[in-house]
Amino acid sequence: MKIVLLGAPGSGKGTQAFRISERYDLPHISTGDIFRDNIAAKTPVGIKIKEIIDGGDLAPDDLTIEIVKERLSRPDCKNGYLLDGFPRNLVQAEALEKFGAPTAVINIEIPLGKLERRLTGRRSCENCKGSFHIDFIKDADKCPVCGGKLFIRKDDNPESVKERFAVYSKQTQPLVEYYEKRNVLFSVNGDLPVDEVFGEIVEVLEKLK
Ligand code: ADP
Ligand code: ZN
Repeated sequence: MKIVLLGAPGSGKGTQAFRISERYDLPHISTGDIFRDNIAAKTPVGIKIKEIIDGGDLAPDDLTIEIVKERLSRPDCKNGYLLDGFPRNLVQAEALEKFGAPTAVINIEIPLGKLERRLTGRRSCENCKGSFHIDFIKDADKCPVCGGKLFIRKDDNPESVKERFAVYSKQTQPLVEYYEKRNVLFSVNGDLPVDEVFGEIVEVLEKLK
């Protein structure tokens, strides 16, 4: 299966991606994680995009497309992939059609008004890349899954969050219609507990298998 996860920042794409990837044995490819790893390692790509990403804007399309294209060409993607955070606009979606058109696009729906608090209370794990909300974990510094150190993403501050919502509404939201027209769009309710959202996603994917 070739799966794309769509959803606003904070809709739970990353959390669901972990589970889908495990259950269906698909490589989880998160462009956000790839970029953050590059920033942490101070690679040429990381240096180029740090300011853009921290501010909540999109990395350049040509660079992002190149990275994803290369990643999808690796052997672990021969039976499919799970893309989280790509495509994020129409240019990227058109590019993906050429090197790996998705068989299913899961759109995680949630009212934008509910998302800000999810993002500003988020902690991310340095080690396993999981993300958690401070309302639901005992220790705000320690990953409840792997024990790794938790950090606050640079783009999870109120200003960058605002910018990310604006970018999402303008550039990413139109992809819902784009994939609807291609008959590969499946929407699930993201305003439910994690397990229930996952249940809805599994229901969709089981029918496609
Ligand atoms: P979220 O979905 O929670 O906003 P991600 O981890 O998916 O977070 O992405 C974080 C940031 O990485 C984005 O705000 C953007 O700056 C950059 N990024 C991720 N994916 C892409 C992409 N496909 N194109 C351009 N920039 C991207
Ligand atoms: Zn962890």
